[in-house]
Amino acid sequence: MAEMREGGVGQLIFKSQAKLLSLEFVKGKPLILLKWAGKDPTLPSILLNSHTDVVPSEHHKWTHPPFSAHLDSTTGNIFARGSQDRKCVSLQYLEAIRKLKASGFRPLRTVYLSFVPDEEIGGNDGAAKFADSDVFAKMNVGIVLDEGLASPTDNYRAFYGERSPWWLVVKAVGAPGHGAKLYDNTAMENLLRSIETIRRFRAAQFDPVKAGLKAEGEVISVNMVFLKSGTPSPSGFVMNLQPSEAQAGFDVRVPPTADQASLERRIAEEWAPASLNMTFETCSHLRDLLSETLKLANVKGP
Ligand SMILES: [Zn+2]
Repeated sequence: MAEMREGGVGQLIFKSQAKLLSLEFVKGKPLILLKWAGKDPTLPSILLNSHTDVVPSEHHKWTHPPFSAHLDSTTGNIFARGSQDRKCVSLQYLEAIRKLKASGFRPLRTVYLSFVPDEEIGGNDGAAKFADSDVFAKMNVGIVLDEGLASPTDNYRAFYGERSPWWLVVKAVGAPGHGAKLYDNTAMENLLRSIETIRRFRAAQFDPVKAGLKAEGEVISVNMVFLKSGTPSPSGFVMNLQPSEAQAGFDVRVPPTADQASLERRIAEEWAPASLNMTFETCSHLRDLLSETLKLANVKGP
């Protein structure tokens, strides 16, 4: 951790002190923490959190190489994977602090900035380890601003009650058989049944959002992200064999107010019923983290 000094936050980050600033809870996955001391260090602090990692990109579909950070000199647009998610908001934090410091402002509460790794893959080696650390406990954080949306105007929108990801994989198994034979309970048939059930649930969640009755953050979103099955052959897939396994992956996002137990029951009973030879896995660490957070919120009160 390092104190911010005069001379600019950007300068502080990008110069050689990088080593001093980083915490490494897991080797090769550094976390950067900056501190702007407040006038009253006894008050709970403000944490502005960002992540440094990005999702993979399909290079050939980009106008400019995604990791070249190409700056279009006429429009000022930057073409770079991660410029939206999530460097732009991180830069807004840094720029706001730089301007406030230049104006002579000093915050009442201490302000921290953290730049964490691994957010896109669940944050287990980043934010989760950080939140469990002594460093974090000593920071006495009262409020955290985390990932938001880029704003092209002077209005900065704050969201609360963000949904937690439950990454769900549904797996079906069944007897393999000849492609010409009709029989019940194939892996494909049961997985398709499950996908249709999940699609109907998704539509029921989405309808009130489309009608303007609910915000996106108030409903459980479900999006299918992969479908995996088939028996590979040199030319693609074997066309006359019904496979014995089929899997589908879903990115499920659960608002803090949702009934988690009922969703878990729904997954077990309707989306991946054992009676149809189906099983499922979810990213349970995040679920645990969420329930811990809710417990904490209940203890602390409003
Ligand atoms: Zn992000």
